[in-house]
Amino acid sequence: MTKNYDIAIIGGGIMGCATALHLAQAGMSVILLEKDDIGQGASGVNAGTLSLQIKRVKLMPYALKGHHEWQKMGDKVGFVKTGGYTLAFNEREAKLLEERMNLKREAGANIEFVSPQILHKNEPNITKKIVAVSYCADDGYANSSLTGQYYRNLLNHSSVDYFEQSQIIKIDQSDKGFNVHTANPQYKAKRLLLAGGGWMKQAAALLDIDLPIQARVNTVSVTERSPKLISNVIGHATGLLTMKQKANGSILIGGGWQGTGTPNDGRGKVHSQTVIPNIQLGQYALPALSALRIIRSWTGFEANVPDFYPLAGALGNVPNAYILGCVRGGFTIGPYISKLMGDFILGNELELPLFDPNRQFTQTGK
Ligand SMILES: Cc1cc2nc3c(=O)[nH]c(=O)nc-3n(C[C@H](O)[C@H](O)[C@H](O)COP(=O)(O)OP(=O)(O)OC[C@H]3O[C@@H](n4cnc5c(N)ncnc54)[C@H](O)[C@@H]3O)c2cc1C
Repeated sequence: MTKNYDIAIIGGGIMGCATALHLAQAGMSVILLEKDDIGQGASGVNAGTLSLQIKRVKLMPYALKGHHEWQKMGDKVGFVKTGGYTLAFNEREAKLLEERMNLKREAGANIEFVSPQILHKNEPNITKKIVAVSYCADDGYANSSLTGQYYRNLLNHSSVDYFEQSQIIKIDQSDKGFNVHTANPQYKAKRLLLAGGGWMKQAAALLDIDLPIQARVNTVSVTERSPKLISNVIGHATGLLTMKQKANGSILIGGGWQGTGTPNDGRGKVHSQTVIPNIQLGQYALPALSALRIIRSWTGFEANVPDFYPLAGALGNVPNAYILGCVRGGFTIGPYISKLMGDFILGNELELPLFDPNRQFTQTGK
């Protein structure tokens, strides 16, 4: 007889894996289905920045807790707490920086304003054309390419049944729960969690739910190895730049510049009209970058809804179905909000509130 799981989870990114592990630890029987390999979506290709300075104010409490989770994971995920500087090159950017960082500081982030002299003492290779700088000692990064390996290892040591190369193509509902179909086997579960990342709109459509989800096509680039040029995570007041130098000497450059393509097309494509200005901004901040070759640029899909807040809660029209995704800064926040999601499904008291997926969506700033 087919096993009837307590819950089926669609998607083996951070959200799906971390929630699965939390539920299994609490005694639920869990099946997790991933269309590709574990941790190969956004969770495995992102820039890995764990910077509190680029988190949205309302999400700061979640980012602080998420940061703590990464710290606990430590070397296994390449966690490094470097500190981070955010730069303003003119008066307009300095005003923006002041407004944004004051709000983030009020929300609990350990952010201070420092003089350009202090910046240059610690980061002598950064441009001297600096008008204002903020600093957060807690900023750092982890290595996103270790995400899959990390979670697969935890899943292997848990009671979670997980299947890769298993795309969910159809879901039937009955009063007993869900029949979840892949190309070959189908699985039964009393509950369902959608954690499909950039493919979430299509996953929700399998339940006849139309959510206003879009997928951004974020770009990241990496240079060849270089002698030490920067020690901290370097950002820009607009949020359009993140740079960090890895232990092997390569510099990772991100900032949310958009490539082309859609999740349905498979992998997105790097777009020269966005990757070039991204690298130019990096070179302006760090002139020595212009001597380094870019080894590779790539893209990944990041889902969002119009208000840019997460979808995290029960799906109103479908009993026992839940959704978790569209989390801005989801690499940082993922391990924590997934525990909250697990607590919600278990009926436990929540440490912080979730984000009702049935709300009215209004467009807000990003
Ligand atoms: C290029 C890039 C850079 C980023 N940089 C940062 C950063 O520096 N810091 C930060 O905090 N955040 C960053 N993010 C955001 C962060 O990576 C994401 O918010 C987070 O990884 C999302 O995790 P997830 O589990 O929701 O999605 P994913 O990791 O995409 O996982 C979803 C999984 O669901 C699977 N799936 C979808 N549909 C189905 C189906 N029908 N059947 C089976 N499986 C299915 C997919 O294959 C995928 O593996 C970045 C994102 C991108 C794309």
